[in-house]
Amino acid sequence: MTRDSLTIPVPPPSGGPCVVCGRTSPAAVEVGYIEQASGPGIVQYACPRHATAFPPGPVPDELLPGPDLLP
Ligand SMILES: [Zn+2]
Repeated sequence: MTRDSLTIPVPPPSGGPCVVCGRTSPAAVEVGYIEQASGPGIVQYACPRHATAFPPGPVPDELLPGPDLLP
């Protein structure tokens, strides 16, 4: 461990607030995605502490059709 690793600023939050506790985290993970008919969907995030409470679900990258699904 170097001294710089202790003194550099915390990186900005990577996602939105946790859907459980509402706190932002630099290590927030995508736990869900809500599709909306009137615009882009909403990505749900959770902090690492609460992310394990969510079952694995589709996230935006997983909803995109892959090259093997194209005709
Ligand atoms: Zn949380």
